[in-house]
Amino acid sequence: MMVRTRFAPSPTGFLHVGGLRTALYAYLIAKQNGGKFLLRIEDTDRKRFVEGSIESMISSLKWAGIEIDEGVELDSEGKIIQVGDKGPYVQSERLDLYKKHADQLLAEGNAYQCFCTAERLEDLKNYQQANKLPTGYDKFCRDIDPSEAQKRVESGESHVLRLKMPKEGESTFTDLIRGDVTFKNELIDDQVMIKTDGFPTYHFAVVIDDHFMEITHVVRGDEWLSSTPKHLQLYKYFNWEAPQMAHLSLLLNADKSKLSKRQGDVAVKDYSDKGYLPQAIVNFVAFLGWNPGTEKEIFSLEELVKEFKIEKIIKSGAVFNLEKLDWYNQQYLKILKGQDLVKVCLPWLINAGLVTGKEDQDWLAAVIELEKERVKTLVELPEALKFLFVLPEYDAQILVWKKGSMDEVKKILPLLVEFLNTISAQDWNKEKLQSLVGEWIVKNEFSNGSVLWPLRVSLSGQQNSPGPFEIAEVLGKDKTLERLGEASKKI
Ligand code: GLU
Repeated sequence: MMVRTRFAPSPTGFLHVGGLRTALYAYLIAKQNGGKFLLRIEDTDRKRFVEGSIESMISSLKWAGIEIDEGVELDSEGKIIQVGDKGPYVQSERLDLYKKHADQLLAEGNAYQCFCTAERLEDLKNYQQANKLPTGYDKFCRDIDPSEAQKRVESGESHVLRLKMPKEGESTFTDLIRGDVTFKNELIDDQVMIKTDGFPTYHFAVVIDDHFMEITHVVRGDEWLSSTPKHLQLYKYFNWEAPQMAHLSLLLNADKSKLSKRQGDVAVKDYSDKGYLPQAIVNFVAFLGWNPGTEKEIFSLEELVKEFKIEKIIKSGAVFNLEKLDWYNQQYLKILKGQDLVKVCLPWLINAGLVTGKEDQDWLAAVIELEKERVKTLVELPEALKFLFVLPEYDAQILVWKKGSMDEVKKILPLLVEFLNTISAQDWNKEKLQSLVGEWIVKNEFSNGSVLWPLRVSLSGQQNSPGPFEIAEVLGKDKTLERLGEASKKI
């Protein structure tokens, strides 16, 4: 049987990092089995619909490298399209299918019309709460004679359709993460399937869709665990085989509270906007609740596809640790080299007005190499590299090495300028500069610090910076001498 998994967000905002994790795990399960990954939009709650949300969620998934095989996509102009032969993949476009199956449930006596008003339900809830009783529908309309109910429907009385849960016994199922889970049927609500507006609830639509889209594994958040018996009851009534279920634990803040906006960013977009690399986010998110059981921490998406194992997902909540995310980002920045590095970083430098992008690509790579291991995210990169493009204002005093003096700087700097002038443009690379200047230092019996410190500060205008030869190479001979000239004027 072909493995088919899906991610089924409700379009109520941006893609949450928890959603990315759910999507990623579902994607990995499909891909490691040669299966298909679907993206379905669950938009039956019209009140919560947010314009632009579908587009933004698709973009975030794409950014993370999670490609879909079927479902909702964006075309080259950014318009929503659908691909695949089990669609539509947007629930609000599937109302006829839900209606047909709701009618079947009713006809077979597995659901009933409920006419309780919002006020009655509210009173009921208040009563239950005041008396510390379990809250839930009291099945008031369950025993209305079906022909009587039908008459009330025909006379236009507002109603919903409710699922008939067995009143006794237990529902047990095996969750792929949690193992056997059991619920007492008497505590499970007769869930609304079709609302007064004719729209299905999530609980009804999810079952119909997972069945017709031939989903084999449902991966979703923990918050749906207690609803699963209702869903499985529907599969039973329709005589359908239910998919395997995997419920993921919550993502937690460091203080173990549920991950929320109040304590930091939760949207994937916030992290891409801040200059985290998609590979870093994916790797980090994969490890929120899963680990391979070895020391290995760096996994590309392809490696995750090979090595991810659903059995190794942890049951307890996973703490969202931002320092770890920074660490991942730095690891991936370290790995990125040459043109790949330029491709990722260039937009940030162009945006900051430092470069146009038309510069020599190797030069750009060398520029980025200078600071890539000192920054945590790409947002910090332009600021870190700015000194190369505009020499910062600095005080002459910082040209003096901790073991040196201003007199020494005054003596050495002109000699150094003279010497550097003799080095040809061909030899102007960091390795050659390092060996030539090194020999020159030895020959003149200077100490390294007394030469390299003022050289580095002259070139960077700051106390902390990359090494002098790296900077000199990137600046080139003319700029290097120009900056040394500025330093000479200051002293
Ligand atoms: N639309 C549901 C949600 O966003 C999906 C739950 C599921 O995957 O079944 O939480």
